[in-house]
Amino acid sequence: MTQTPSLLPGDQANILAKALPYIRKFHGKTMVIKYGGNAMTDPALQQAFAEDVVLLKLVGINPVVVHGGGPQIEGLLKRLGKKGEFIQGMRVTDAETMEVVEWVLAGEVQQDIVGLINHAGGKAVGLTGRDGGLIRAQKLKMVDNADASKEHDVGQVGDIVSIDPSVVKALQEDAFIPVISPIGFGEHNESYNINADVVAAKLATVLKAEKLMMLTNISGVLNKAGELLTDLTAKRIDELFLDGTISGGMLPKIAGALDAAKSGVNSVHIIDGRVPHVLLLEILTDQAFGTMIRSH
Ligand code: ADP
Ligand code: MG
Repeated sequence: MTQTPSLLPGDQANILAKALPYIRKFHGKTMVIKYGGNAMTDPALQQAFAEDVVLLKLVGINPVVVHGGGPQIEGLLKRLGKKGEFIQGMRVTDAETMEVVEWVLAGEVQQDIVGLINHAGGKAVGLTGRDGGLIRAQKLKMVDNADASKEHDVGQVGDIVSIDPSVVKALQEDAFIPVISPIGFGEHNESYNINADVVAAKLATVLKAEKLMMLTNISGVLNKAGELLTDLTAKRIDELFLDGTISGGMLPKIAGALDAAKSGVNSVHIIDGRVPHVLLLEILTDQAFGTMIRSH
């Protein structure tokens, strides 16, 4: 763990003691963490993330990690001479792109995260949506945001049909930390690429999670002037969608976050993954980072 030699022993003890009410409050609770953005590509931040997840588990909180992998997928597509294309924040996924998505997410990124957490002293287990029949999906019908009569074909992008959380629960009970790649399977056993934010949000709802935290590569949701919005209600989110303040990858993120908040997840946050140990700070201190999403 990172050393903090500048702190006096009394201050250090004080900080640790202040975590007690949070540990007590969240003991036994499930926290779904969407791991994405810069926190996933910077080695020091990766290390801090893995340590946070292990610490949470050791104090009796149940972290469930759902990871993305946009930059890594983009990197391999480029090496293969393909260019990624997005429509309304979703990656257009033809058959070849789907193969790349599976290689990168399940083969590389997931196993890297499992390795990092285990190296930090945890017991992580990697899953895709196929494992234990976790995520059933179907082809996403994408309606145009501006013109509801228009539909986009985004290929093998999945829409979640159902989540069977039994494999996640079984692992949690055995002190394992599930690390989930956002790949679903369809009626004919075909694969679907699902936005990781959408998976994290739905999983948080199904698991009746206490918190959903989405780590991203920006300080939170920003307004048109680039200022951080620390708190968003459903009504304000509608306005931001309509006036075009929210675009790209923030579209599925906020839509998922709002769904989770409306479906009973107690607190939903889009937080800055560039801040070292942001998870510990967000969960075990009174500090807030990024944007909190409220259902009303
Ligand atoms: P990830 O899913 O890894 O967190 P994404 O690129 O999918 O990353 O989504 C985050 C991105 O969404 C930001 O880097 C930013 O470019 C974009 N974005 C669009 N609208 C906003 C907004 N209003 N506030 C903040 N970010 C926004
Ligand atoms: Mg994204």
